Amino acid sequence: MEKTKLKIILLGDSGVGKTSLLKRYNDKDFKQLHNSTIYVDLVTKEICIAERQVILQIWDTAGQERFKSLPSRFYRDTDCCVLVYDVNTLKTFESIDNWHDEFIKQANPETPTKFPFVLMGNKTDVNNGKPRVVAKEIADQWCGSKGNIVYFETSAKAKINVEEAFLEIAKKALTNE
Ligand code: GDP
Ligand code: MG
Repeated sequence: MEKTKLKIILLGDSGVGKTSLLKRYNDKDFKQLHNSTIYVDLVTKEICIAERQVILQIWDTAGQERFKSLPSRFYRDTDCCVLVYDVNTLKTFESIDNWHDEFIKQANPETPTKFPFVLMGNKTDVNNGKPRVVAKEIADQWCGSKGNIVYFETSAKAKINVEEAFLEIAKKALTNE
């Protein structure tokens, strides 16, 4: 059976948990990470969806504030772009617009409003007794304003929704193929 390759990229500010989410999805134990990803890193994973064998090529990026430094050839031919922020840090949510626009600019998809993005609000396990910084409704609103972006609230640490989110990401990627 022929296998379909799907290219997925993770974008978002440094520290939001991109590498941790990918490690969690890749069955590795969650570790308190200290090193930021250097440039980009690739994880491949084979799964079966809709009776098809697909190979997910998931690219992890080291965002920092230098998001413009990734060359546009890196963004091209992406099948699904995952935007990650930390629900406890407003700045990382505010950056999502930049990451979204940067992706559109660099990847230059045929119909930007139809391109499959998935938004992930990570670190939902954090409970410091204060109200959440970015409410779910705010993230939902943002998704609606951009067309039809799917939103997942996740915790790489507490294993919440990670598997579910990546399954949806794979399905979305398949629609773009
Ligand atoms: P990246 O820069 O986006 O790749 O972020 P990392 O995966 O390196 O994570 C940054 C920090 O946040 C690390 O100290 C992680 O241990 C921590 N972290 C990642 N995901 C979670 C989560 O779901 N909950 C909590 N509490 N901490 C997390
Ligand atoms: Mg990282």
